[in-house]
Amino acid sequence: MSEAAEQQPAQSGPAAVQPVVMKFGGTSLEDAAAIRRAIRIVKHRLRSRPLIIASAFAEVTDQLLAAGKAAAQGELHAARVSLEELQRRHEQVALDAAGPELYESLRLPLQSEFQQLDLLLGSIASAGELTPRFQDQLLGAGECLSSRIVPAAFAQAGLDAVWVDARACLVTDAAHTQATPLWEETNRRLQSALAPLLSEGKIPVLGGFIGATSDSIPTTLGRGGSDFTASIVGAALHASRIEIWTDVDGILTTDPKLCPEARRVPSMSFEEAADLAYFGAKVLHPATIAPAMRKNIPVFVLNSRNPEGKGTEIVAHPGDECVMKAITAKMGVTVVDVEAVRWLAPEILREIFEVFERHQYSLDLLSASRGSLSLLVTSSDALPKIAEELKGLANVRWENHKALVCLVGEKVRRQPEIASQVFRALSDVDLRMICQGASERNISFLVAESQAEDLVRRLHRLFFQSRFDRYSISSASQPMCQAGGSWQ
Ligand code: ADP
Ligand code: ASP
Ligand code: MG
Repeated sequence: MSEAAEQQPAQSGPAAVQPVVMKFGGTSLEDAAAIRRAIRIVKHRLRSRPLIIASAFAEVTDQLLAAGKAAAQGELHAARVSLEELQRRHEQVALDAAGPELYESLRLPLQSEFQQLDLLLGSIASAGELTPRFQDQLLGAGECLSSRIVPAAFAQAGLDAVWVDARACLVTDAAHTQATPLWEETNRRLQSALAPLLSEGKIPVLGGFIGATSDSIPTTLGRGGSDFTASIVGAALHASRIEIWTDVDGILTTDPKLCPEARRVPSMSFEEAADLAYFGAKVLHPATIAPAMRKNIPVFVLNSRNPEGKGTEIVAHPGDECVMKAITAKMGVTVVDVEAVRWLAPEILREIFEVFERHQYSLDLLSASRGSLSLLVTSSDALPKIAEELKGLANVRWENHKALVCLVGEKVRRQPEIASQVFRALSDVDLRMICQGASERNISFLVAESQAEDLVRRLHRLFFQSRFDRYSISSASQPMCQAGGSWQ
């Protein structure tokens, strides 16, 4: 583990103890062996006052979701069978990681959690529908379970860890499945619950991803939301740093699942990382960066299977000369064309956006002309209803199965050659559009989803691999970029 990282100076701020927030993702907590790896990592951070955010164990959230869907479709028996499997897995991991004695203190809380889940599946089956509210209650159980088991495993390893109920601290709005914190109340509750524990030298452990409304109805922050929790908690407590422990060596030049040649990016600006997450890099939840950036808290993405690695450092001014940092692909995008029956007067525009908002759509504007708008959305579920509601004002058409491919880097737009290189290299591909948004940090374009993977690999070869040889970036001191920023 990097000592330099350990010795980062603390930020100034009002909290008495400025912790290091360490978020462990699902694969970093998949079984007892993974939990023991996490414990070894935390032991290296004791001087920095660790505070832990735990994701659900690997795949648990997906399994809960599948069980909820099965129950909603009338397959309650199948849903209960998978719940029983989940119960056996959690009990086994708890026993292995916490040992028989400490396991006794977990037996009842685990049993009661699974009893409640069983009742919940029954209610979903009776309703015949997995409503967003049911979904939040169901999916959040993964983090409730892991965050109970982890402190017991820490205690078994001699660490003074305490479970803190994240649902009692993170107060959110009622936008189920995509909730947003009510910042003032959340900060107040986090500080009052966590600061005393930290001052006593304890290690608080909170489940990520979960919160509750002010009426205590469970909510979630959107899939992958534990990263966001880490940043919310880090900002509330003026953390010295936020560490996202995952299953890759940091942020890479692209998703290694799409392109195995992807390489680690040593450092990034907050804005670059936010763009990268926004444009689909699963390694960070899209909302993660904002709270850390507001408080200027460095964020590190690190590999729990390779804790000696340097990872990626995300800071305000990374001080490198890289033109381009990474290529992302956001799959499952739908393009919506909204054509005004007459013209797009301001009141018609307002009406259009209000209708989309009523259906809880977050929109990206692709292009606008006098008579029409092109929008990007990530679900087409409510589009028939929206088309119906806008009848008479505008005609709505859409195309599914698109992917948004994006080149991200602080200086990417200042190099016009990059766009022309993309066009040259992809002259055989139907590129729907290069988005020219306000940001200088990205160039993005829309392609058929079926082509996206191949395209990412081709772009990666073009912009990164050829330069690996010329600039020997495997030394990692001159990463994936050409110093001075000129591209030929
Ligand atoms: P965790 O369970 O730790 O939250 P995730 O699966 O949410 O982990 O995120 C890590 C995954 O993100 C990696 O395994 C990788 O496939 C994917 N990923 C996508 N884009 C990138 C990228 N640019 N750099 C690193 N990982 C990426
Ligand atoms: N367990 C949640 C999910 O799979 C949140 C997270 O892992 O960050 O989406
Ligand atoms: Mg994640």
